[in-house]
Amino acid sequence: MSEKRKRYKGLIVDDAMMNREMLKEILKDDILFIEATTGEDAKEILMEHFQELDIVLLDLVMPGMSGFDVLEFMRSKHMTDYLPVMIISVDDMENNIERAFDLGAIDFITRPFSERTVKRRVLTTVSLFAKQKQVVTEIDQDYLVGDKRADRLTGVDLKKTFYNNVHSRLKQMGEVGAIMVAADIANFKLYNNYYGWEKGDIYLQELAKKLKELVQRHGGYVGYMGGDDFAMFAPNAPALMLQLHTMAEEEGYFENFQPGFHPKFGIYVLGAEEDSAHALYDRAKMALASIKADYTLNLKMYEEEMSQRVEDDFQLLVDIRRGESNQEFEFFLQPKYDVATGQVVASEALVRWIHKDKGLVVPGAFLPALERTGFISNVDVIVWEEVCRWQRQCMDAGRSVLPISVNVSKADIFMLDVTATLDEMIDRYQLTRDLIQIEVSETAYTEDPERVGREIQRLHNGGYTVLLDDFGKGSFNLVSLKYLPINELKLDMRFLSVEFEEIEQDLSILEFVINMAKKLNIKTVAEGVETKEQVEVLKKLGCDMAQGYIYQRPMPAKVYAALIASKTK
Ligand code: C2E
Ligand code: MG
Ligand code: MG
Repeated sequence: MSEKRKRYKGLIVDDAMMNREMLKEILKDDILFIEATTGEDAKEILMEHFQELDIVLLDLVMPGMSGFDVLEFMRSKHMTDYLPVMIISVDDMENNIERAFDLGAIDFITRPFSERTVKRRVLTTVSLFAKQKQVVTEIDQDYLVGDKRADRLTGVDLKKTFYNNVHSRLKQMGEVGAIMVAADIANFKLYNNYYGWEKGDIYLQELAKKLKELVQRHGGYVGYMGGDDFAMFAPNAPALMLQLHTMAEEEGYFENFQPGFHPKFGIYVLGAEEDSAHALYDRAKMALASIKADYTLNLKMYEEEMSQRVEDDFQLLVDIRRGESNQEFEFFLQPKYDVATGQVVASEALVRWIHKDKGLVVPGAFLPALERTGFISNVDVIVWEEVCRWQRQCMDAGRSVLPISVNVSKADIFMLDVTATLDEMIDRYQLTRDLIQIEVSETAYTEDPERVGREIQRLHNGGYTVLLDDFGKGSFNLVSLKYLPINELKLDMRFLSVEFEEIEQDLSILEFVINMAKKLNIKTVAEGVETKEQVEVLKKLGCDMAQGYIYQRPMPAKVYAALIASKTK
């Protein structure tokens, strides 16, 4: 599929030409920039182009109107709520950074910077905000064929007209008792791939026609929002709802229907609020998005929590950003034991967020949001760096040093050059490759075997020990093990649910995997080991290493250091 790469629009505000040129050069593949050489210029450009912009890169120190003034202006117009502003400045005074964040800046990068850092941070920020926007303006680039043709194709009003209609209607009667519906076709891309674009168009036309008939009969409006997306605004009539249900559920309703390609509807029932047509569609769209991946549901009413979730996610990410600048992320270590001897042989670094207000936050509370947006790489790079620095410190202090494994997520492999990033750190801290081991989860691999497999191969070639994490959680094809240069397999007892009652049955799986790993010369590490019984079983089956609460919980690095010092004495 030829997916056109999206180019974002940005504004650079900096009085120094060199700075502007450099940023433009670094980001030229992804962002098209307008430039402002003064704060005053920036203000004018913002007034005119605010809607089109995806990001602002702002210098603080400029003659005349300063970066702070620009921020202040943007904030007064609520622009900072929608448009991310990143400060790029030589000024790294603590209270200036603080002030910029207070004024709504999303990030602060000090010069001199590394190209990679800037690129990564700018692009993750842009895409995060773009996702926010997407809910409103989600138009599938693959199918947007220009307004004119789209209109002719579906015979339905275009977005602008639709919004205008709804807008005046809302003004007239403040439609309590109306609904806004967002509709699309499940897996429409696949439909086009299977049956061809022509048939795809015909299905789209049929859907448009039926929606129009239905809604107009009830005195409402239909809008074509691009791609396979439609919006409807109509009175909240039971008969209409019933019809939508039928469309979504009944196989024979559409001539061009194929199993698996149902229309889906997200519905928002208007309350007494005075909202814009956009905001209403937004909510209908959120309801639709919530069932996108669920093939058992084709119709969903909006729930208050849906907005809340989007909002919460967003707030969390902003907070994480702040936490990164504030150095609130650190790692704990959980020891791994040799099952046979009971000695500590290595450990795993697990990220912890020491939040300025909330105290210790565990990964489960923030990693999922980070994973979804790709922001995880920022945190991961911080952890890797900290771990390298720690190993160096231990060596310098003459303490005994054991390997530490770090977690690499799928997003890292897409966002950065993982091997090169680690290589650079290893060199800078003058470590050897055996001191930093790499954990890649089985799920990351199965989601994109080609790309993730390639990175595993590179890490392996570079001399790293690679562990396949959370083995047993997903649907791994055991045969792949033959071709993947994996050194260790982490078997999660929780996924393999080696419970005492079911031990017979689960044992055979565990035994099978351990034996096969042995044949392939792959070491096994059991993790999530919680009971003595499990340890006994692992011993019996010849599992090499174990990690889990029965031994030790993850602990601050210093406590770990004391632990291994006392053990080796
Ligand atoms: P994981 O890599 O499989 O790490 C093991 C998780 O199991 C850790 O949870 C650990 O505290 C927990 N655990 C260890 N022994 C036991 C046990 O006996 N019983 C139970 N119930 N749990 C045990 P944690 O620290 O909350 O991390 C959760 C997951 O978050 C990790 O799973 C890993 O996938 C991810 N993660 C943690 N730190 C990082 C990081 O720095 N980068 C990335 N990308 N992911 C991380
Ligand atoms: Mg792990
Ligand atoms: Mg694991």
